[in-house]
Amino acid sequence: MKFFKHLALMGAIASGSAATAEEQFITIGTGGQTGVYFVVGQSICRLVNRGTADHNLKCTAPSTGGSIANINAIKAGDMDMGVAQSDWQFHAYNGTSKFEEDGAFDNLRAVFSVHGEPFTVIARADAGIATFDDLKGKRVNVGNPGSGQLATMEVVLDAKGWTMDDFALASELKPAEQAAALGDNKVDAIIYTVGHPNGSIQEAVSTVDAVMVPVEGAEIEALIADNPFYAAATIPGGMYEGSPEDTTTFGVKATFVTSADVDDEVVYQVVKAVFDNFDRFKRLHPAFENLTEEEMISGGLSAPLHDGAARYYKERGWM
Ligand code: GLU
Repeated sequence: MKFFKHLALMGAIASGSAATAEEQFITIGTGGQTGVYFVVGQSICRLVNRGTADHNLKCTAPSTGGSIANINAIKAGDMDMGVAQSDWQFHAYNGTSKFEEDGAFDNLRAVFSVHGEPFTVIARADAGIATFDDLKGKRVNVGNPGSGQLATMEVVLDAKGWTMDDFALASELKPAEQAAALGDNKVDAIIYTVGHPNGSIQEAVSTVDAVMVPVEGAEIEALIADNPFYAAATIPGGMYEGSPEDTTTFGVKATFVTSADVDDEVVYQVVKAVFDNFDRFKRLHPAFENLTEEEMISGGLSAPLHDGAARYYKERGWM
């Protein structure tokens, strides 16, 4: 009797201590609510939060401005992790292009890559835009400040010898606003570096007759040839109403990044939550459907791997 009483008491102490152990909050930077980054962050957090009882991590993934905003927030210590295009991961780590002024972010760490992101141009069908060059003199939503698309658009314009002044209007609306702007005839075209299918483009094509515009030519081929983080990309025909044929463009990868200042154990648990539940993760968005573990830990990563991530990949025998 005495023995059992003792056991019960021990049980009470054990569960009491588990419930009061300190929870650690982690924040993941994403993108606009109608994009895919938001789903990446929300999906990772959902899997992490299933295990809070074991690891005491509580994960949130608010909407943000996108790649550049996420990298800057991680550098400032305002966010722990975030999603960023592979081109901006490269430039932030090396202190090049848009990050030249700030200098190299030496502590930037890669965790894994996610889906491919074609540089996407979609135009109103009545705007007379069949090629990228037709954008000259038109009203174009070039992307919100802090987004990867605005930064990559600047690279494309630079390569072509254009500036924002070559457009009648260069608006900087967020993804959540751009489809309505296209539908309301406030802009002729929108630029979005994004995985497919996504809510923003779906909203656009269901609001107005719109067509995918190919992005090709000598300058684009040179960008692909000269930069390891760019590749030729195709937006499959039939994915959206109004674009039955494949659309040729170039693209990057969405990648998941963090800082060397974030604890190994935290990153390890986040990575474990994703890859221990990989089939579940892949079902959370159609853009994740064809992901493979192998590609996710090799492609698109230019910053060093975070030690916590490397620990998990070694445990699984992947490296
Ligand atoms: N590639 C975009 C960016 O870097 C975000 C796309 C998305 O939200 O899915 O800002």
